[in-house]
Amino acid sequence: MSTDWDVVIIGGGAAGTAAARRLATRGFFTLLLEASQRIGGRAHTVNVAGHTLDLGCGWLHSADRNPWVGIADASGFAVERRRSAWNQQYRDLGFSPEDQDAADEAYAAWHGRLMSDPPQSDCAADALEPGGMWDGYLQAMSGYISGAGLERLSIADYLAYDTASTRYNWRVPAGYGTLIAASLPPSVALRLATPVEAINLEAAGVSIATRAGRITARTAILTVSTAVIVGGTIGLPSELDEWRHAATSLPLGRNEKLFLEIVGDNPFEPETHVIGDPRNPRTGSYYIRPFGGPVIEGFFGGEGAEVLAEHGPAAGFAYAIDELAALFGSDVRRSLRPLAVSNWSRMDHIGGGYSYALPGKSAVRDILARPFDGRLFFAGEATHRHDFSTAHGAYQSGVRAADEVMAALRPSGP
Ligand SMILES: Cc1cc2nc3c(=O)[nH]c(=O)nc-3n(C[C@H](O)[C@H](O)[C@H](O)COP(=O)(O)OP(=O)(O)OC[C@H]3O[C@@H](n4cnc5c(N)ncnc54)[C@H](O)[C@@H]3O)c2cc1C
Repeated sequence: MSTDWDVVIIGGGAAGTAAARRLATRGFFTLLLEASQRIGGRAHTVNVAGHTLDLGCGWLHSADRNPWVGIADASGFAVERRRSAWNQQYRDLGFSPEDQDAADEAYAAWHGRLMSDPPQSDCAADALEPGGMWDGYLQAMSGYISGAGLERLSIADYLAYDTASTRYNWRVPAGYGTLIAASLPPSVALRLATPVEAINLEAAGVSIATRAGRITARTAILTVSTAVIVGGTIGLPSELDEWRHAATSLPLGRNEKLFLEIVGDNPFEPETHVIGDPRNPRTGSYYIRPFGGPVIEGFFGGEGAEVLAEHGPAAGFAYAIDELAALFGSDVRRSLRPLAVSNWSRMDHIGGGYSYALPGKSAVRDILARPFDGRLFFAGEATHRHDFSTAHGAYQSGVRAADEVMAALRPSGP
């Protein structure tokens, strides 16, 4: 049986785009299928009222070894290399220097226990001090970093990321989503608004069912999120139960962003930061006037993101404005206007923020990354052993899967 394509890539996020770039340069007959109307997935830059906003990824983490930096440089995208303001509390508002020291010490002590004396359970909450004063703060940090509470997190997984991270965090003023979408070479065949409904194994490779008909290929790369794999919208053969099972141990955390526009007289200084309430696990982290523009970007993780998604945008904006008014004074209410809010967890083709491993399950990232029978290959942030939860981890996973495909398709023999 002849097939329509050498490779079909399912999902046009950072991983799918990276795989397509790699395969395009090697002359493989490649088709990229994307369920939504756009390329980028969890990388999505929008322009609202003249403001460039990244609803998903915004920071080029581990920037000194992040492949998107080289792509940005090569394609004329400016990269902002100044340090982020995350670890500062503007004018110590609502968070005294003594409390900041105490919270930092609590974090360092917890982290030290993970490193030197990790609990057998591999559960990050089991390394908390009983009745610790700063548990709410640690839970808020866990929400931002992993999208989930410490009781759901594998220590080994958290440490794999943390140890590999280089702490350089840069930005693309034009938007990380814009960069990733622009990186897809025009030579790659692309079908948007084409959700894959099922993948079946055939003698000559795979067949892929879509609303628009059946597509055959020698190989396929599946790059969708773990929530999509578990959700069952793509019918997978029973031979892939082990992969589906691995995805259940790597759920997507909750991560959402909310943007406010600043108008009129206001006390907000460019490139500053506050955490809303350092004792509240649901609190927002507010990046004030990124690149100097009149915008505040609120970031919510874990419980905070759940509240945002469940109570809706109006309640989310009210919550963020209340937190900022409590720090900067009630007058700022007059200067803050709702601009945009994400809702990743409710998007059918995404289903959450980014993956974390449940206690005892960090090794299943390798299971999810394994090729099946030289025909089906897996990429996506969740498949990366230590750069998971990022756009550069997704990129690297796409390149790895493309290389595996090329090795499988290489003519064998003398
Ligand atoms: C709020 C938020 C903030 C973040 N901040 C950062 C950050 O600052 N820095 C960073 O590095 N990372 C960040 N991330 C994480 C980063 O965005 C992701 O790790 C990365 O974009 C994931 O890429 P991916 O290709 O693995 O998956 P995805 O982006 O999910 O791509 C998968 C694609 O598959 C498509 N798809 C799904 N189902 C089907 C189907 N049936 N058929 C065809 N296509 C399908 C989806 O529409 C999607 O386009 C953030 C994420 C969120 C949500």
